[in-house]
Amino acid sequence: MHTITDILERHHDDRTRLLDILWDVQHRCGHIPDAVLPEMAQRLGLTELDIRETYSFYHFFHGKPAAKYQIYLSDTVIARMDGYQEVHDALVRETGSAFGAQDASHTFGLETTSCIGLSDQEPAMLIGKEAFTRLTPEKIKAIITRLKNGESSATIANPDGLASTTLAYVHAMVESGIRTSGPVYFQSEPDYRELLSRLLSGPPEIVTKTVTESGLRGRGGAGFSTGLKWRLCADNEEKIRYVICNADEGEPGTFKDRVLLTESPQAVLFGMVTAAYAIGAQQGVIYLRSEYLYLKDYLDQQLADWREQGLLGKSIGGKPGFDFDIRIQIGAGAYICGDETALIESLEGKRGTPRVKPPFPVNMGFLGKPTSVNNVETFAAVARIIEHGASWFKTMGTAESTGTRLLSISGDCEAPGIYEIPWGITLAEVLANAGARDPWAVQVSGPSGDCVSVEKDGNRAIALEDLTCNGSFMIFNRSRDLLDIVSQFMQFFVNESCGICVPCRSGNVDLLKKIDRVIDGKACQKDLDDVVVWGKLVRKTSRCGLGGTSPKPILTTLQNFPELYQSKLVRQAGPLLPSFDLEESRRGYREAIALLNDRRTVS
Ligand code: SF4
Repeated sequence: MHTITDILERHHDDRTRLLDILWDVQHRCGHIPDAVLPEMAQRLGLTELDIRETYSFYHFFHGKPAAKYQIYLSDTVIARMDGYQEVHDALVRETGSAFGAQDASHTFGLETTSCIGLSDQEPAMLIGKEAFTRLTPEKIKAIITRLKNGESSATIANPDGLASTTLAYVHAMVESGIRTSGPVYFQSEPDYRELLSRLLSGPPEIVTKTVTESGLRGRGGAGFSTGLKWRLCADNEEKIRYVICNADEGEPGTFKDRVLLTESPQAVLFGMVTAAYAIGAQQGVIYLRSEYLYLKDYLDQQLADWREQGLLGKSIGGKPGFDFDIRIQIGAGAYICGDETALIESLEGKRGTPRVKPPFPVNMGFLGKPTSVNNVETFAAVARIIEHGASWFKTMGTAESTGTRLLSISGDCEAPGIYEIPWGITLAEVLANAGARDPWAVQVSGPSGDCVSVEKDGNRAIALEDLTCNGSFMIFNRSRDLLDIVSQFMQFFVNESCGICVPCRSGNVDLLKKIDRVIDGKACQKDLDDVVVWGKLVRKTSRCGLGGTSPKPILTTLQNFPELYQSKLVRQAGPLLPSFDLEESRRGYREAIALLNDRRTVS
């Protein structure tokens, strides 16, 4: 089959580029046909099972023929607060397809998907690489009618035919929604050639020292010192090293990295070049989530411009031996790839299964070489630190949390969008700035963070020393059903667990059953006691951050809103076991008897 031969040749039969190969095959064939697997396996040195195992891991690859228009509707807590169900029903009505299926003519296929990074513009959906936001049933009717009349999703989303390499195109697709900015992010871009000359005027150790002295801590979640990470990487004897920008922004409710890549891509690139100089890396990769595919051509154009200006490539900035370039890797829909080791596995063309640590990526990362994985926001902050100095950066924030922080704010507020806040500002101040409407609870840092009470925690400071925050606030007022929201978050973790370790794979399912039992009014105190014990166990024994944080929606609401749980409990007087369900138990018994009788009849 010529199709697959061409694609494999273009990727030099490189098995580490399996994700790119699979994307190309899917674009060409509409899915990953069984017929291409033997040649792929033979030329890549894999088995057909290896390839199936890999592509089946990712939400956006199909092993079966897809519809002409495969539509992904973002199914999130915030979308469900903003008209998700009406849009969902309109899609079914207008396309004639059910969700998880296709219409009879195979023109439309409908799927739900986890957060696509548009929580300030929900309900939202993807068709191909085009994003459609602020959907209503009327908009759905108009879009589907135009598709039926032969227009493409590209022309509907981009009626002026803007080049996909331009900022205007990205803006036509999605609003940036910056509400407050400065002094660190979204500032006018400096002359990066001049800044690079300044960077290269000293040895790499000085750059690392500057970043360390600034107190910058990773904005991706763990809050590890960026300067220390670079030093550990640079200290490794292995000379081939990599810089990776983690742009797999999958935490529901978080969309700040999308806006940074839109409005300040050069700051991010400069941060990567700085890291490369500091650790001695030759290759950089931006791992971009496929939900942000509409950004790829625009970012590729930025990379091309930088090569032309001598800011990437050979002897960059005129420094002999400083060879560094960056490519973009598109993910394929897997929340777990936000974990740095899962991301590296994915980048090597495998399932995104987190690795056991140690070894840490700074010692043994991409292709077994020392690798520094940093977040988009971290790289953008590095650019400003190099521009203005460590002392300037340290004048902002608190002792442990220097500089500023970007927040993605959504939910019950007048002005959802992006806010740059000084570390140390209180929760109540942030809510006031966003025009929160009668705020009751805030999910800080997405489902993997804490759900806090505005009444009890309003005066707490947003800082690593107090209320840690990884870049998002979802605001809920008293009209919201918090237990239902907890259940949706737990379902999200069940869906996104990679399944490699038992505590996470089965523990989250058990926790979900418990919360649903509470919602159904069937739980008693012992169930809540179990939840606390099991939740702590899942957190402690899971391999990666997903299992390490997934019980938090239950544990933190149990801690901060105990009355919600208590009001739902069954008050038991009798000796029944706490979770014993008589009817359920009798159903199982009846099924067993029926099965036994069937077997007797057959024999
Ligand atoms: Fe996979 Fe969950 Fe284990 Fe992480 S904790 S490795 S997501 S099963």
